[in-house]
Amino acid sequence: MSANREIENLIELMAKLPGLGPRSARRAVLHLIRKRALLLTPLADAMQEVAATARECLNCGNVATSDICDICQDNRRANGELCVVEDVADLWAMERSGVFKGRYHVLGGTLSALDAVGPEELRIPKLLDRIPGEHVTEVILALNATVEGQTTAHYIADQLEGQVKLTSLAQGVPIGGELDYLDDGTISAALRARKEF
Ligand SMILES: [Zn+2]
Repeated sequence: MSANREIENLIELMAKLPGLGPRSARRAVLHLIRKRALLLTPLADAMQEVAATARECLNCGNVATSDICDICQDNRRANGELCVVEDVADLWAMERSGVFKGRYHVLGGTLSALDAVGPEELRIPKLLDRIPGEHVTEVILALNATVEGQTTAHYIADQLEGQVKLTSLAQGVPIGGELDYLDDGTISAALRARKEF
């Protein structure tokens, strides 16, 4: 503990980031201080800006810096396809693969009787509104292959029965696997080979 209080405070905060422990946080902070002009100052500025502007897209639940995210504002993405994911990280994983050209809907979790998470907590009413509102013709259920993910997928499918074509990602998404952990090629293959739900 040779660093002073302000620097220790920064290390403690950094250590709370996913994937960083106290050791790597200490190394990262030391690196940042040594690269003050190149890294530390721009990073502090970028963080301040995001802290001031980041919010949930009112339409899809993506993280954005305006009330409606870039994807929802882009008319070229209004191709009738709506991909339903659990988490923003899953949306970002799909975007990284670059294969999906439609829009998204982020549920923000899965249905869980145990944790008292019902449809209202999951942005499901908003999803149902978007189907006629945005002339959606196909809903792709890209939920994780966990029990909760699949229970949620079946609930949504029941609500949308007869209104739209319902598909789900093909095999290739590992059991219990989260989209975020899949490589881009696997996501692309799973989307291209999607099947009727
Ligand atoms: Zn959006």
